Amino acid sequence: MRALAALLLTTFLGSSFCAFAAPPNIIIHFIDDLGYGDIGPFGAVKQKTPHLDRMAKEGMKLTSFYAAPVCSVSRAQLMTGCYGARVSVPGVYPPGAENGLHPQEHTLAERLRPLGYATQCIGKWHLGDQPAFLPTKQGFDHYLGIPYSNDMLKTASVDGRRVVPLVRDDKVERLLDEADQDRIEEIYTDEAVKFIRGSKEKPFFLYFPHTAVHTPIHPGKAFQGSSQNGCFGDWVQEVDASVGRVFDTLRELQLDQNTLVIFTSDNGPWLIKGADGGSAGPLRGGKGTTWEGGVRVPTLAWWPGKIAPGSVCDAVAGTIDVLPTCVKLAGAEVPAQPVLDGRDLSPLLFGQSQESPREAHYYFASYNLQAVRQGPWKLAIMTQGSARAKGQVEDDAKTNPRLYNLDQDIGERTNLAAQHPDIVAKLTALADAMTAEIGGNEPKSRRPPGEVENPSTLYPTSDPPRRNAKQSRPPAPQAPLTYDVGAMLRSTPNAHLAEQDG
Ligand code: MG
Repeated sequence: MRALAALLLTTFLGSSFCAFAAPPNIIIHFIDDLGYGDIGPFGAVKQKTPHLDRMAKEGMKLTSFYAAPVCSVSRAQLMTGCYGARVSVPGVYPPGAENGLHPQEHTLAERLRPLGYATQCIGKWHLGDQPAFLPTKQGFDHYLGIPYSNDMLKTASVDGRRVVPLVRDDKVERLLDEADQDRIEEIYTDEAVKFIRGSKEKPFFLYFPHTAVHTPIHPGKAFQGSSQNGCFGDWVQEVDASVGRVFDTLRELQLDQNTLVIFTSDNGPWLIKGADGGSAGPLRGGKGTTWEGGVRVPTLAWWPGKIAPGSVCDAVAGTIDVLPTCVKLAGAEVPAQPVLDGRDLSPLLFGQSQESPREAHYYFASYNLQAVRQGPWKLAIMTQGSARAKGQVEDDAKTNPRLYNLDQDIGERTNLAAQHPDIVAKLTALADAMTAEIGGNEPKSRRPPGEVENPSTLYPTSDPPRRNAKQSRPPAPQAPLTYDVGAMLRSTPNAHLAEQDG
């Protein structure tokens, strides 16, 4: 009898959906400017990605996973579960910007930490570089990384070098010139392995937004010349090796059965960088646009015993869904307020559903809603191209709206709007409603940006102060945060942020 009870208990505890299982560890690799066609599981051949190939073989490939057109917006989406427009992160923050993600927004790290998670951010934060905006103020126990893009070099007053800072927690640890960046992937990966080793007694959340493969391209010495695709391919291969070291550590510590690993990118390839800019594969457009190539990113999810090996998910999902998914998997509920745009993806990950949990996906560029997708149908209501894509993407967007069937026409070449007026009308209504909610100049439900007086750079620089490019856009009505924010920071739309860089 006792043996039978033990057997039943063992079976129960070993079951995939055991109610008493420990909360999973969560690792998110967030690659910078990695295109849809840049890794093996999504068709890359010039660079080899054996660890990502294995990850796909053992886990799930998500083929319709959406980020945002540029860096800071995607990171805001990942951290808050909201479109960038909802949380007033419309573009890219330069060093010393007065704006950042509002400190009162409740990030994924802030939601996991009260559940007992150790939290660490390693890499490119890019949600504000003022002390009030850094990762350690947004739920992370520790931080190590270049806090914005690796091309945002400034002249250091101390020695005249063009540098970016390497920040540990909230202090500049070192100033890195371009040559120093050859070691950045190695520095990050060492820190990631150290964090995992030190956190094996409790659940952990490792947010790993790699500096790679944003230009300037800086593969480590061991990887230089290793691919058939120049420096860019070499750096992709180093990213793959980094992912492999993290997997090796999980397996060595026998944490692999209780760890969810997500691999994805913040936006499409930076096409104007030519050979340094990656590939969107079959998709049209690149970074800075709302063509599929700008926002649809190569994504893998891995959790042995939970996610079926070799599975493929074609349902619409994206960075906004990561927070509600992880909170649910950690055993908590996401409260109704403040409003989230994302939804729990776990039924998709665990093969219980093939349907997107969201009614639609909305493609914002800054505060402008440019397109909406439901099922295979994508309706573009305004020009999707941008200055960034000129030369690579001819803009046939003189006719609005344009309707594409992405299942049959992934490259967005054939406008079917005239043939399907009913679908156009339905998607137009969805787009109008979302614009009224958080888009344009009169949104009903946009929450305020973080803003500080007298911002400064993280290290003294001899460069001239940044031109104050504040625009004269009229203040937009905004929904208050539902937390007790005390004296709300001044909230003017940070429309002056660069919209295409980063
Ligand atoms: Mg990026």
